[in-house]
Amino acid sequence: MSAQVIDGKAFAAKVRAQVADAVGKLKSEHDLVPGLAVVLVGEDPASQVYVRSKGKMTVEVGMKSVEHRLDVDTSEADLLSIIKSLNEDPTIHGILVQLPLPKHLNEDLVINSIDPAKDVDGFHISNVGLLGTGQKSMVPCTPLGCLMMLRDHHGSLSGMDAVVIGRSNIVGKPMAQLLLGDSCTVTIAHSRTKDLPDVVRRADIVVAAVGRPEMVPGDWIKPGATVIDVGINRLDAPEKGEGKTRLVGDVDYESASEVAGAITPVPGGVGPMTIACLLANTLTACCRANGLDEPEGLTA
Ligand code: NAP
Repeated sequence: MSAQVIDGKAFAAKVRAQVADAVGKLKSEHDLVPGLAVVLVGEDPASQVYVRSKGKMTVEVGMKSVEHRLDVDTSEADLLSIIKSLNEDPTIHGILVQLPLPKHLNEDLVINSIDPAKDVDGFHISNVGLLGTGQKSMVPCTPLGCLMMLRDHHGSLSGMDAVVIGRSNIVGKPMAQLLLGDSCTVTIAHSRTKDLPDVVRRADIVVAAVGRPEMVPGDWIKPGATVIDVGINRLDAPEKGEGKTRLVGDVDYESASEVAGAITPVPGGVGPMTIACLLANTLTACCRANGLDEPEGLTA
């Protein structure tokens, strides 16, 4: 069997087009422009790349984009004061503080200082609690993107066996909550899980969010299962030239795609969906803040 490739790049373009369409209507019908503020502390090169592409895509869908680039030694008080002013700014509907933060800043304190209604990353403790209790919340972007692709592929997920490998607050745990919300039978596996291959073999849906290159081989996958590979791992690729690298996921794509029914590639799978969902969350936050109906299909 050769798995159907779930094209995250094309799907993300569709989501962004849907967001752009809704932003256009907000502007023409309500004179509203959703605004997203991104705060970056320090000069981590990967974070700089993410922030740049977030800003570019925010503008492309017609939203207002604000960037705060702060020195690596910015004090906690100064950072909290910027977040406070963004919380109070009616033209800003989404606030994202790029993680990781430099060591001297308390990440939990900073994230929990964001107004939960503007917490488009969905990491505020209130949003975590709302998601865990099945209430309307802001949903973390990467798991939301995975859920959208799964719903698009399967329609209903009800009754399916899902195994999420990884229990981080950013991906694994919210992913499991979302799958539970869609009535899957969910197992969360992690580094202490016994007989991981057997656990994974039970799954109709496998979500790998580990951060270990090509850890999940094809013979762990149940024939016909859907595999969502969240992992982004950079490996040396001397065959491409000196100093070159290539991206791989947490799943061994070649062997897994022989067995799976459907699979997301790396790159071009989950990755592009994350920013698309950030834009979707900003739109959702803007609609909620103004008492307007949320566009369909862009939230959990
Ligand atoms: P993380 O915080 O490091 O969590 C990794 C999880 O994997 C932990 O729960 C860990 O278990 C588990 N794990 C580690 N080794 C394992 C093993 N041998 N067997 C089973 N489980 C194991 O990572 P994360 O932030 O969730 O990210 C995971 C991956 O997704 C990374 O590659 C990251 O780059 C990628 N990612 C991609 C996107 C995107 O937009 N596509 C977004 C976020 C993250 P313990 O808890 O027991 O240690």
